[in-house]
Amino acid sequence: MSTHDLYKVADTLNTVKQMPVLFLGHGSPMNAIEDNEFSRKWNELGKKLPKPKAILCISAHWETKGTFVTSMQIPKTIHDFGGFPKELFDTQYPAPGNPSLAKEVKNIVSKATVGLDFEWGIDHGSWSVLKHLYPLADVPVIQLSIDYTKSARFHYELGKELAPLRQKGVLIIGSGNMVHNLRMARIQSLEGFNEEYGYDWVLEINDLFKKKILAHDHEALINYESLSKSSRLAIPTPEHYIPLLYALGLQEKGEKATIFNDKALAGSLTMTSVIIDSIKE
Ligand code: ZN
Repeated sequence: MSTHDLYKVADTLNTVKQMPVLFLGHGSPMNAIEDNEFSRKWNELGKKLPKPKAILCISAHWETKGTFVTSMQIPKTIHDFGGFPKELFDTQYPAPGNPSLAKEVKNIVSKATVGLDFEWGIDHGSWSVLKHLYPLADVPVIQLSIDYTKSARFHYELGKELAPLRQKGVLIIGSGNMVHNLRMARIQSLEGFNEEYGYDWVLEINDLFKKKILAHDHEALINYESLSKSSRLAIPTPEHYIPLLYALGLQEKGEKATIFNDKALAGSLTMTSVIIDSIKE
């Protein structure tokens, strides 16, 4: 999708009340401090989307037993990675929290008892993209954890329960990567992370994911394990894929899904991202 098209989508969004939903492929933590095609796209989105009152992020990097929502007034910036330059460790994302929104999340979710968390903060799955979407860190941010004991369907259904927040100006973002196999990735250097290259099976399953997303075939995406013979390679562990299911769960009848940042990197990662919005198809 061209930048022009993305603007067109976003311009229309400014006239609708319901906040869009995003699934963002976040890729390398270095994207947080790099000026590249992905970070520029996030920045464009931040400028063009209706300004949210708050952000609820479901990040691949917060897995828990049970479901939790960050509830502190001032969430800390978590540097949950190793082997990166000091500049990345020095990066802070000082967005405020929103304890009352956290309580609201707890109240509207019936599928799970949501625990209020005061220990976590904002992990790099969230701040590496938010830093470009909202560089001023002036929008409150809360995170919802991924319960690693639950099924794909549970996460999809839990996503659905968050729907009322969209009318209240909350931007819900799932942050992960649809294809995420670091063990097979060709990463010889930090730059190699963003080398544009995908193994054949990656390009194939990326096309399949996109086809299913555009066809609103959520059942196929929930049952991703039987979607392709490459599913197990693309999703060796589900935490980077699950945030997509939250975003899809929030897609209402008649809402459009648009794909962007559609790139395979380092062999076995995809940045493929989705915006779901109320533009009628
Ligand atoms: Zn990640």
